Amino acid sequence: MKRRRRPLPSTRPLGRVASHFTREGTPKNPYRTEREAQSAAQLAWTLNGADLNAYRCDYCHQWHVGKRFRDD
Ligand SMILES: [Zn+2]
Repeated sequence: MKRRRRPLPSTRPLGRVASHFTREGTPKNPYRTEREAQSAAQLAWTLNGADLNAYRCDYCHQWHVGKRFRDD
């Protein structure tokens, strides 16, 4: 009989690193600077009317854009 190790619980995408992932569980596009992230947010606003924030990610230490977390 083979013994299988359980995967670590920290491999789950959601939780403390939710800011790094989209709702679909895929990693967000990283930007190296706040400026890049902000221009991406502005572009989304121009194209889609999407109201996005630029924020620093605790997980990868780069910048992402996304909706506010308390949006609902
Ligand atoms: Zn990240």
